[in-house]
Amino acid sequence: MKWSWKVARISGIDVSIHLTFFLLLLWIGIVYWQNTQSMSAVVQGIALILVLFGCVVLHEFGHALTARRYGTTTRSITLLPIGGVAAMEKMPEDPREEMLVAAAGPAVNLVIALLLWLWFNFSPVQLNAEGGLTADVPFLYKVMILNFMLAVFNMLPAFPMDGGRVLRAAMAMRMGREPATRRAAAIGQGLAVVMFVLGLLYNPFLMLIAAFIWLGAAGEASSEQMHAALFKSTAGHSMITQFDSLQGSDTLQRAADLTLQTTQKHFPVLVPGQSPGLLTQQALLQGLRQYGEHAQIQQLSLAALPCVDEHEAMETIFIQLRGMETPLVGVTRYSELTGVIDLENVVELINIEEAIKAHRRADSSRLM
Ligand SMILES: [Zn+2]
Repeated sequence: MKWSWKVARISGIDVSIHLTFFLLLLWIGIVYWQNTQSMSAVVQGIALILVLFGCVVLHEFGHALTARRYGTTTRSITLLPIGGVAAMEKMPEDPREEMLVAAAGPAVNLVIALLLWLWFNFSPVQLNAEGGLTADVPFLYKVMILNFMLAVFNMLPAFPMDGGRVLRAAMAMRMGREPATRRAAAIGQGLAVVMFVLGLLYNPFLMLIAAFIWLGAAGEASSEQMHAALFKSTAGHSMITQFDSLQGSDTLQRAADLTLQTTQKHFPVLVPGQSPGLLTQQALLQGLRQYGEHAQIQQLSLAALPCVDEHEAMETIFIQLRGMETPLVGVTRYSELTGVIDLENVVELINIEEAIKAHRRADSSRLM
């Protein structure tokens, strides 16, 4: 994430802090100073926020390490003023697994709260009978209360918060993932509206969270539609079959001609006995500048064309193309190149699937 600063790497996962988080610390410090004029209160206030966010990191690790058990890797965990964000490759497909991954975060906070509660009950440190969350209750007592609140807050059924994900997974077991996501997103946005109104009345911070939930729910719903379109399509079904490829002995002039005559920008280069190479438009222009139009393509040092089997899911290919690892992917049948896929191709597929589905939805609502 932009503007974030890596502070640690724990069991293969980068932990970063977003710069805005330091603004939160500054703000907390100023508020404590204005209210108490005491440096030790400021230090305590900031320490409480740091410990609280340490618990948020543990919460995110709860998600990440559970997801790892089901084969999903997490690249990084970033701390923002509104909480932690774990950048996971994908959520597990199986609703039961997704439910466990989503519930693991709040479970960590519950366990922390429970351990502290046990410690307070069985240690010689006794709380006063009237001990609420006032200035003179012990620091760890505040940590216990805050962890309990974190668990409860995250389990609100407001998709894409953890409770909303559990709800989506529960509904997905009965009605399938895509309709479940649509419904969970609608419930999430409804709760966001309620939260926004409560925020207007009581606490502006709630309005920020409401906006985050509203946008998150909309984003999840649309990425789920994309996922559904790509998940069931295979490379062999959606690939471009009418494409030009070049031989190593072809001249750059021939590649330039094909670039102008067709809509194709990047070309597979077939060399007998070798896996295909890739002539990108950038490599072609570079070659023309360096060697002129009469040079042969095999004079250039070409990248290999990344190839997938025709049964590969389009989603995997989309991730490759979107990550800019390559502008073109080759599709093979019995290790022979039968098609290619580029990003435009994937976008067309998503749009077509979307249009067909919208038509079906309209049809079924007319029937009711
Ligand atoms: Zn969580």
